[in-house]
Amino acid sequence: MTFKREDFNDLMFPTYVPMDMVIRSAHGVDVKDNEGRHYLDLTAGIAVLCLGHTPKGVQKIIAKQSRKLLHCSNIFANESTLGLASKLLPRAGFERVFFVNSGTEANEAALKLARRVAFDDHGEQKNEIIAFNHSFHGRTFFSVCVAGQDQYSDGFGPKPGAITHLAYNDIEALKQHISDKTCAVILEPVQGEGGIIPADPDFIEAVRALCDEHKALLIFDEVQTGIGRCGTFLCCEQYGVKPDIVTVAKGLGAGLPIGAVMTSARVAAHFSPGTHGSTFGGNPLACAVAQHVVDKVGNEAFLAKVREKGAFFASELLKLGKEHGIITSVRGRGLLIGAELADEFKPRAAEIQKLCFKHGLLILLAGHDVLRFAPALNISMRKLALGLEILDEVFCELKATS
Ligand SMILES: *Cc1c(COP(=O)(O)O)cnc(C)c1O
Repeated sequence: MTFKREDFNDLMFPTYVPMDMVIRSAHGVDVKDNEGRHYLDLTAGIAVLCLGHTPKGVQKIIAKQSRKLLHCSNIFANESTLGLASKLLPRAGFERVFFVNSGTEANEAALKLARRVAFDDHGEQKNEIIAFNHSFHGRTFFSVCVAGQDQYSDGFGPKPGAITHLAYNDIEALKQHISDKTCAVILEPVQGEGGIIPADPDFIEAVRALCDEHKALLIFDEVQTGIGRCGTFLCCEQYGVKPDIVTVAKGLGAGLPIGAVMTSARVAAHFSPGTHGSTFGGNPLACAVAQHVVDKVGNEAFLAKVREKGAFFASELLKLGKEHGIITSVRGRGLLIGAELADEFKPRAAEIQKLCFKHGLLILLAGHDVLRFAPALNISMRKLALGLEILDEVFCELKATS
């Protein structure tokens, strides 16, 4: 059967408005639609495909694991899940892990856990969660209400209480607000969906100190920033600050759905038997692939290349964007890169994305008006340079049509 983009509207919930094509297949950073057109992909399935599309190594692992064990439920332990835990924990620097299927589930579990720890250790009154404006933590109702973008959580009835939103990177605001009622502070080391906004090192250090002072747990949502995306295995390594709980997902499965919550043995102990669970979380197939990801992406030489490629792309992008007068600044870490548009081009962000698409280049937006680039971590310098060449053409055309 051959589908057209319009079929989407007749079949699917209208939650997404996909680009005008139907993807058939992809390999590496090359995406092919069902009319034979090719695209250079700098989106990696929104920071998911850390090793590119359909990597050979992952194909092999899926084939092999599919002959061994796909699913067995969590009433039995299995080798694949334990294998991933034993690789991931030492690499990330934590003692216990809970596996889920997505980023929002990882945050849901982390937030529930933080509430439970406070309840057990300090009592019911210690229940406040502090999060930050423009943050994104996923779409389950608790996660989405904790995130600082009301447009995603309004209109669904009563929200869970005791959630406070403060300005990101504002130490004073946090100092004023945090109290012994606070059970957790959750933040992204680089706000992803909110516009690729890195935390200030001073802010991260102050958050850590204030959490310690008020016995609140610090949760880092590294769903987008983790698993090598920012040039270190976890982004927080670059800040030299360790959270009490970290969540990862997106890149962990190289395209298979898996997420993880990691913490200390002491904190994890509060999720006693029966307090939380997941049917598919930690399923053997996803865990087999994720082991391969930890081996590949956890490698220091691989991460050094991510940093090198990120620095190259960011500086060339800024140069190009300034020449055209379209981009004013470029920010981010590793291969999570945001380009701030000049004021007159801000309302045209979606138009730029569509023009890129027309020229065979797939890019993302973050916030309303930031161009976001999150390519496969193993993308070549040559493909990054090609992406810049296409952007040059796009910027020329954009100015010609203003
Ligand atoms: C993508 C994302 C999520 C949500 O992950 P899902 O897998 O879509 O549930 C949560 N937090 C951050 C920082 C993200 O970028």
